[in-house]
Amino acid sequence: MSSVDHSPARTSSRPDVGALTAHTLAFVRDVVLPVEEEFDGDVTAAGGDELRRLLQGAARERGLLAPHAPPEYGGLGLSMSERARVFEAAGHSLFGGMAINAAAPDEGNIHLLAHVASQDQRDAYLAPLVEGQVRSAFAMTEPAPDAGSDPTALSTTATRVPGGWRIDGRKTFITGANGAGFFIIMARTRGEIGERGGGTMFLAPAASEGLAVGRHVPTMDRSMVGGHCEVEFDGLVVPEEAVLGEVDEGFRYAQVRLGPARMTHVMRWLGAAVRAHEVAVEQAAGRRAFGSTIADLGMAQQMIADNEIDLAATRALLDVACAALDAGSPASQETSIAKTFGGEAIGRVVDRAMQLCGGLGVSADLPVARIAREVRPFRVYDGPSEVHRLAIARRAVKAARSRTSS
Ligand SMILES: Cc1cc2nc3c(=O)[nH]c(=O)nc-3n(C[C@H](O)[C@H](O)[C@H](O)COP(=O)(O)OP(=O)(O)OC[C@H]3O[C@@H](n4cnc5c(N)ncnc54)[C@H](O)[C@@H]3O)c2cc1C
Repeated sequence: MSSVDHSPARTSSRPDVGALTAHTLAFVRDVVLPVEEEFDGDVTAAGGDELRRLLQGAARERGLLAPHAPPEYGGLGLSMSERARVFEAAGHSLFGGMAINAAAPDEGNIHLLAHVASQDQRDAYLAPLVEGQVRSAFAMTEPAPDAGSDPTALSTTATRVPGGWRIDGRKTFITGANGAGFFIIMARTRGEIGERGGGTMFLAPAASEGLAVGRHVPTMDRSMVGGHCEVEFDGLVVPEEAVLGEVDEGFRYAQVRLGPARMTHVMRWLGAAVRAHEVAVEQAAGRRAFGSTIADLGMAQQMIADNEIDLAATRALLDVACAALDAGSPASQETSIAKTFGGEAIGRVVDRAMQLCGGLGVSADLPVARIAREVRPFRVYDGPSEVHRLAIARRAVKAARSRTSS
């Protein structure tokens, strides 16, 4: 698979993305934001899965559910470029991605299943996922000293048994694990810990014997249903048909999921950062200090301007990466650059917005503090900034070497 088409469907008439973006924003502002406000962005306090079903029902009625999913499963088949503004609009509320069934990890899992799953797997897992009947989890990270930033440390094993595979190992930080209907599990089928490759993805219903969801790791964020959990596989036996794609090709498929999933995280968090910035500018424009409004003081103007620059630059890098993905490129460099810059720029924007709002900025009376607690972990998951910088630099050096040797 040297190139991957990240557009789930090419229909003759493309959806009107401008109208869809406007409808999504209106839905999020009218229906979703009031719930987020009432519960200070804490999805468990707001009802967890019950809230998810309620909001997704409202999105379905408006034709806004899972716009990225293949049309044959009820989606609109948006390309990466087309979903950029729609997901940004959804991101204006911390619950917006969930409301349109475009939140992590389900959004990335829909993308992965649409590209890699067999027809039977699509019918069994993708169809109910797109519909919002079930949630899903993607289980790759393991507790130290095993796979985290460095996936070659993968230690969860899948060994052949008559009729299928036996999976043993431990995972951690698995988003949405509590209450998920099924898991996509990365396990080692070849090689030793520390060796590259040799990973395989497996599908397993959550109710399987040998699969246990444990403790919620108590993280600073609050907006994702099902928490970030420890999961144990102890003699989990799955049939041959549970292999997602081909045996030993799991790391290649991980890139099919992770490149686009990193970009959709940037899209949604960009929407949240835009909201924090808008709130801050409104506050600064109304609040007076030292004989003028705060918005007319030079150092505040610098923060406002720097926010505008960071938001525009993030959007531009996102669009470059999405165009490359839509053109069939793995877009490894473009997605790493957009993820690293976007993750850090979004953090800067929200931090400046907090500062501009003064005491209110760190209170629950404005949304800025809760947005800050949600966006900070993004510099760690989907690859920490340092790991992306390592990869970006290595590619640049490799390109330089190939130029000088030719
Ligand atoms: C909120 C949240 C949700 C998550 N959801 C999921 C999920 O659904 N499924 C899943 O499989 N995983 C999930 N993860 C796990 C996430 O992918 C890992 O946290 C991430 O890959 C980093 O691994 P680690 O935590 O083991 O950090 P470590 O590997 O221990 O790294 C610690 C730090 O070391 C530094 N570092 C690492 N490599 C380098 C380098 N080459 N050069 C310099 N510095 C470096 C970085 O600063 C890094 O943050 C989630 C994590 C969080 C926080």
